This record gives sequence, C-alpha cells and structure tokens, in this order.
Amino acid sequence: MTPSPNQQLPPSTIPIITTIAAFREWRKKAFQAGQSVGYVATMGALHQGHISLVKRSLADNDHTVVSIFVNPAQFAPHEDLAVYPRTLPRDVELIGAESIDVPGQPRPRTPSVVFVPSVQEMYPSGITQDVGAQKGTFVQVKGYDHQMEGKSRPTFFRGVATVVIKLFNIIQPTNTYFGQKDIQQALILRRLCRDLLLDHPDPKHLHIVPIVRDATDGLALSSRNAYLSAEGRRFAPTLYEALHLAEQAWNQGRTKGDSIKEAIKLIQSRSEEAGKTPEHVEVKLDYVEMNDEDTFDELEESRTISEGEGDAQIILSGALWVGRTRLIDNILLRR
Ligand code: AMP
Repeated sequence: MTPSPNQQLPPSTIPIITTIAAFREWRKKAFQAGQSVGYVATMGALHQGHISLVKRSLADNDHTVVSIFVNPAQFAPHEDLAVYPRTLPRDVELIGAESIDVPGQPRPRTPSVVFVPSVQEMYPSGITQDVGAQKGTFVQVKGYDHQMEGKSRPTFFRGVATVVIKLFNIIQPTNTYFGQKDIQQALILRRLCRDLLLDHPDPKHLHIVPIVRDATDGLALSSRNAYLSAEGRRFAPTLYEALHLAEQAWNQGRTKGDSIKEAIKLIQSRSEEAGKTPEHVEVKLDYVEMNDEDTFDELEESRTISEGEGDAQIILSGALWVGRTRLIDNILLRR
C-alpha cells in the first residue's frame, strides 16, 4: 500500500514529501518566488513512459513534482488494487536520475519533490472501493465517462477525477503532463479543469504526451506489463498490431465497421494461436472502437475518412486481456 506518514521512506536524492501541509509549505515558496511548477501524477511502478512526462516537465518548468499514489477509488472491488506493483525505492531512484541542462544555469535541473501521500491523507472521510457504500465528496465528469474505458470500467473515471482534483488542489501546478496512453483520462481531466474553472492548472496547461512503446514490438509501456508471463508477453503486442491494421484500413478509405473488423480478425487468429501454446495463454478481446475526440460518441459503422473537416481527431482505442492482464492502447486517426 501507499506508505503511511510514519512509514520508512527509501533513500532519495530528492526530497520526498508525504503530508499535504508540508507540500503546501513548499508550494508557497515557489509561488512567492514566481517559479513555475510542472506536475506528473503517477501510481508508481515507473517506466520510461512516466519518465517521458517527467522530461517534458523538466524542460518546461522551474520545478517538477512527481506524485506516487495508488488510488483505491479508481479500482473496482474485483480489480487489482491489492497486487498493483509497488516499487517506491526504484521509483525515487529513477526520478532522481533525471536531469536536464538549462542554458545559463550552473547546475543541471532535476525534479524538485516526490509527493507520496498516504490513503488517509488523501481521503480524510475514508474510502471504500464499493461505490454504493462510499461517503463524502466525489467528482464525476458526466457524459464522458461511459464510453470506451468507461464502458468496461463504469466507476473508473469517477475515481480518477476525484483523486486528480484533490491532487491539483494540493500541487497547484502551472503545467501538468498526462500520457496519451490513457487518452480518455487526459481529455476528461482537461474538461474537469475547464468545468471547475481551475487556474492551477489552466485547462490549456494540461499537456498530452505521446505514448512510449517498446522499441522492438511496439507494446505500449505500462506498469501492468509486469503481470505478464513470458508467453503472455509474446502475445501482448497483438492489440497495437490490431489497432495499426484498423488505422491502415481507415486511411485507405474503408468504413469504420470494416476497419474495426480487420483489427478483430487479427485478434481472433492470435487468440487461437495463444490457446495452443503449452501455457494456453488466454487472449481475449474486450473492445476496439472509434470515437469522436470531442464528444466521445461512437462513429457510425458506415463512416469513412473525410479530410478537411478541421483538425479534431478520432480516437481508435481498444482493450485486450492477455491472461489475467488487461492491456489498453490507442491511436489517434485523421478525420
Ligand atoms: P499511471 O501510473 O499508470 O497512472 O500513469 C501515470 C501517467 O503516465 C498517466 O498520465 C499515463 O497516461 C502516463 N503513461 C503511462 N504509460 C505511458 C506510456 N507508455 N507512454 C506515455 N505516458 C504513459
């Protein structure tokens, strides 16, 4: 679990702050000095995807804050909260190893603070994963949380929006960085900033950073990849390959329905192949869909690419089970 305030913290070259009061003291000084604060929210088990957000923040801001908090409210009771990988010593080491040279400054710029609050600190009214039994204040971005990921995980975005508004209230970032890997999450959070009239961050200062992939097979990096067996790992890039096939079909002028069929065909054949391995790896489609970037509406089956309709994009996204691991991925398509 996320450490309680008294729990022993790992050695770190960067200050680790565990309480909201202490963080606010630190933040006050940055405000007073007129220094910008970039913020990267994570659940830990860091990999190069997370680090790409840290690098962006270091380049854009005087300070960079990284939070590590495994948020119970975004896991349904049957999901993987208890086994979610927790690797705090390695995480702070990775964050501490990041630096960039800033012209005119004598020393390289490194992240300023790692914020690691406890569950009690973040949920003073307590928190249960059973939404029906929850008490206290929760935030929902209505109309945008029931498509794509929200269809499979109906209470997920409520949990995310609730914890992120709390984190924004604490961190008060000038800029914040979220991954395209979780595109629906990033767009919902930008809407949350707009609807709740936030200034820190201003919605236009919520930046979406491209997906970092495995250099050899394109698998999107994810903390959950650690759950995969060796055999499962071999089949994990199936989702990206399938999305890529759908993208090609779409760009060739095929309909949405036909493009998605291409993706599903590949997943089905890989699934048969995986079932025949000694481990009988189960590769199972959750969904592949195309949704409008602004409304999140599903595109009509007969829809084709029609260039010149402005620069809004289409989200081609999917989720795939490989054994007990649920993987997600997406590609942004031209209209
Ligand atoms: P998480 O720790 O999974 O909550 O992710 C924290 C942040 O890192 C989110 O904004 C994610 O979208 C982002 N992220 C996760 N994986 C990747 C990746 N492969 N490439 C870029 N960003 C990522």
